Parts: sequence; C-alpha cells; structure tokens
Amino acid sequence: MAADAILEINNIEVVYNKTIQVLRGLSLSVGRGRIVTLLGSNGAGKSTTLKAISNLLELENGAVTAGSIRFGADDIADLTPHGLVRRGLFHVMEGRRIFEDLTVEENLTAASFALSGRGKRPDFDLVYQYFPRLHERRNGLAGYLSGGEQQMLAIGRALIAQPSLILLDEPSLGLSPVLVEEIFTIIASINRDLGTSMLLVEQNAAIAFAVAHYGYIMEAGKIVLDGPTERLMADEDVREFYLGMNSGEDARSYRDIKHYKRRKRWLS
Ligand code: ATP
Repeated sequence: MAADAILEINNIEVVYNKTIQVLRGLSLSVGRGRIVTLLGSNGAGKSTTLKAISNLLELENGAVTAGSIRFGADDIADLTPHGLVRRGLFHVMEGRRIFEDLTVEENLTAASFALSGRGKRPDFDLVYQYFPRLHERRNGLAGYLSGGEQQMLAIGRALIAQPSLILLDEPSLGLSPVLVEEIFTIIASINRDLGTSMLLVEQNAAIAFAVAHYGYIMEAGKIVLDGPTERLMADEDVREFYLGMNSGEDARSYRDIKHYKRRKRWLS
C-alpha cells in the first residue's frame, strides 16, 4: 500500500446474485487528504465500487469475489459497515438517504453514533457553520426540506461523524446548477479546512474536476484512464465525452471513441 493512501482497492471483482459480474479487476487509490473522483457512464459500476468499499454489497446479494480493499491499515473484508463508520469511513449514498420523519438535528444526532468509542463528541456547530441553512431548519422535519437542503443534510450527517474518508455518490443529482455550485464549494472547503479525504462519484465531470485532485474513469467494470485532474481535463477524449461536447443520441462510450481512434490510426 502506498504510504500516503487512505484507501487502496486492488484488482477487485464484484458479482451480484452469484451470476452478474459488474467489476472486472478494478484498482484505485485515494491519497490521504485528497479528493479523488470516479467518473463513468451509466451502469459502469461506480455505485457498486462505493458499496464494495463500505461493505454494503451483501445487502444486495452482491460480493467481492477477488482482490482486496484496504482502508488505512485494515482489510475491509474483516469489518462490518457499522464498524467502518466507527473507524471513520462514511458513505453518503445516492438519493440523499435521510430520515424524513426526524428533524434535521435528530438526523445529525442519529449519525453521531459513529463517534461512540472514539472519545469524540458531536460538533453540531461545525455542521451548521458549513451549512447555515440546516441551522435555520434544525427543528423542522427533514422530509420537508428542499432537494438541495436534503443533500446538505446527507453531507452534514457525514460531517457529524468526523470521518477521515467520505464516499460521495452523485451529490449533484437532480439539483439546479446554482445549488450544485454551492454544495461543491462546501465540499471543497471541508476538504481544505479539515483534511477529510473524499472519493467522489459523479456524472457531472466538470464540477467533479473543479474540486478533485485526481480522477479515474471507468467503463464496464474497470478503470480505463486515470491521472491528475489537470491532465485529464486536457485529454482530448475526456473533453469530448465527459466535458459536454457529446450528448443525446450521439453519445458514445469512451471505449467506442478509443476504438474508433485506434481504427482511424490503423487505416491512415
Ligand atoms: P449509475 O450512474 O447509473 O448509477 P453506476 O456506474 O453507479 O451507474 P452501478 O449502479 O454500480 O453503476 O451498476 C452497475 C451494473 O450493476 C449495472 O448493470 C446494474 O444493473 C448492475 N447492478 C447494480 N446493482 C445490482 C443488484 N443489486 N443486482 C444485480 N445487478 C445490479
């Protein structure tokens, strides 16, 4: 394991229902204190990768059938999802999983179970400092929050657990551009101020590149390209496929573009 990595995934394979193979030898690492983004088209296996890390696959009849995942010094295979949260790994799942029938503050309190045994107390002020809107709504039911505020609460629940690594699954999903910018500005400042490492899954590559230090691009269950953000942003194929010049009916997969380019080179 690299000395400065907080997370290291080594050549994992994931199979659902003992039959459907979704990850095919995927490797990646997250440096301590870094934001790393994992990009890829629908169905590439991004959420599956995050669930493999937080050990949630069992709930969906999935399993890591090969390879290994290390969080700090520990092999996650030996740890339960709750044990991982207590050790400082928090997964903010896609779709803003919050308790709608609890107030905002009760949602935060519920997530603070992660602090038990670590001798730390929940720091509500810290969460409210990053998300003043949650402070305004702290006594209101979470179910009545707007979509953006619910996403803020989902991230606030991570923050109250004082994790060293946050897994973020598509925080931009379904939010207006203004809100996406607001939330990503906060994500970047949490990383900068507190040194929290993050693995960020996104469809919105432009916003992911705006905050990430390093990126991986996956297709059909494995990594096809990786590099520091600036290098990826300068890559012609990434610009074409991920930065908005190719959408709708013309959308092709990154692999198709690669194949096409290779074919073109062979023919010329
Ligand atoms: P999206 O951006 O659409 O969320 P993704 O890259 O996160 O996509 P995953 O959700 O990891 O992709 O899904 C990868 C593949 O695994 C898909 O083909 C999906 O149908 C399949 N899959 C996901 N969850 C399950 C499950 N519980 N049982 C069987 N197959 C599943």
